Amino acid sequence: MENVTIVDNQSKADGQPIKKPSSSAFRLGSSTLSVHAGEARQKPNDAITDSICCSSTYTFESTQSILDYIEQKQDREEYGRYGNPNEKVVERKLAALDGAEDAIIYSSGMAAIVGLLMAKLSAGDEIVFFDQCYHRSREFCAKHMSRFGVVTRQVKTGDFDAMEAAINERTKMIVSESPTNPHLTVIDLEQFVALGKAHEVETLIDATLATPFNVRPIDYGVDYVWHSATKYMGGHNDLLAGVICGSKENLESVRKLRGILGGINSPHNMYLLERGLKTFALRMERHNENGQRIAEFLEKHPRIEKVFYPGLESHPSHSIAKQTMKGFGGLITFLVRDADWKQTAAVVDACRIPKIAPSLGGVESLIEQPLVMSYLDYSPEERQRFGIYDNMIRMSCGIEDADDLIADLKQALDS
Ligand SMILES: *Cc1c(COP(=O)(O)O)cnc(C)c1O
Repeated sequence: MENVTIVDNQSKADGQPIKKPSSSAFRLGSSTLSVHAGEARQKPNDAITDSICCSSTYTFESTQSILDYIEQKQDREEYGRYGNPNEKVVERKLAALDGAEDAIIYSSGMAAIVGLLMAKLSAGDEIVFFDQCYHRSREFCAKHMSRFGVVTRQVKTGDFDAMEAAINERTKMIVSESPTNPHLTVIDLEQFVALGKAHEVETLIDATLATPFNVRPIDYGVDYVWHSATKYMGGHNDLLAGVICGSKENLESVRKLRGILGGINSPHNMYLLERGLKTFALRMERHNENGQRIAEFLEKHPRIEKVFYPGLESHPSHSIAKQTMKGFGGLITFLVRDADWKQTAAVVDACRIPKIAPSLGGVESLIEQPLVMSYLDYSPEERQRFGIYDNMIRMSCGIEDADDLIADLKQALDS
C-alpha cells in the first residue's frame, strides 16, 4: 500500500491547497493511509487485522539461514529488542502519514527524542532550542546531555535572529515544537528549514500537537519529525508511544542505537496503536472542529481574558497557521479574567465533561491548570518567563459533541 501513488487531497483550513515548498510525492489522503498504509493486503490466516505476534526471539531453519540473513540482511525478525512485526506495521503507517521515508517507534515520546539525540550528538556538539519546547526535552538536554559534553542553548520561540546568533560551528541541530504547548505558537517551517540549511545544521520539529493530519514538516524539508504517539495518534488515552520520522539514511544510526537502548514496544501496545490509528483522520477532523468552536465560544465569554488558539484571528500565529495548516487541533489555552489561582481552579473543578488530567489528544476531553499540573516546582519568575500564569487553563478538546462541551464550559464559567 505504501507504494501506491494517488493524488494527495490535503488542503488547508480555507480549502486552498496547502503551501508545499518542496512538493513531495503525491499520496493517498490521510484517512486512506490511516486505515491501510503499512499493512499487508493479505495477512496470515487470511485475517483482516494484524495478529499480535508475541515472540521475544525468532527462529532460523538452519545455520545456513542465519548466515544468509547476516549476509543479505533479508527483511525478517531476529530478536525482540531489534523490533517486532507489530512495530513494523505501525512504523510504515506513521511514515506514510508523515510523508517520510522511514519512522522509528519507541515506548514513549520521551524515549524517542532521547534515542534520536543520543544517536546524533557527541561531546562538544551544540543544540539550539526555541524555548517553548516540551519541558522534559529541554530538561533532558540541559541536565543530562550536558553530562556528556553537549551544550544546549535556548532562545525565545519564533525569534529566528536569536536562533541564528546562537548557531556556531559546533551546532548540530536546531529544535522547535510547532504548535507549541501551551501557547500554541506556530513556527514558520520554511524559515526554520532555510536557517538549518544555511548553517548546515539538522532540523527537528516536535509536531505532536499538529499531527500529520494538519501539517507535514517533512514536506518543508525538516530532517526529523518527532511525535508523542501517546497523544492524537494513539488517540484513546490508553497507551504510550513515540516516533521519529525522517530519511532512511538519517535514521540508520538511530535505529541501531535503539536496538542497544532497548526502548521498544510490546506487540500488544503496537496492536493498540495500529487500531487507534485506523480512525486517526476521522478523529482529527472532530478535534479540529471542536477546537475551533470552543475557542470561538471562549473568546466571546465575558469571564475570559485571553484565548490562545491559532485558529483565532487574535492569535499572533494565525496567519502562518492558516497558510500552512489544514486545521488547528484540539488544544486550547485560556486565561480567566481577574482570577487568582484558586478561582481558576474552581472553574476547572466545576467542569463535568472534561476530566482533570495531564496529557492531550485523546477522545476524552481533558482539562488542567498548567501552574498546578506542571509548574509548581518553578519559581514565580521562571513561570513569568515561560508565560505560565496563575489564571491559565489548558483544555484538550476530545471528540464529544461541541455543543455539550460548550454548555459545560458555560456553566463552569457562570457558576
Ligand atoms: C506528551 C508530549 C511529549 C512527550 O511524550 P510522552 O509520550 O509523554 O513521552 C513531547 N512533546 C509534546 C508536545 C507532548 O505533548
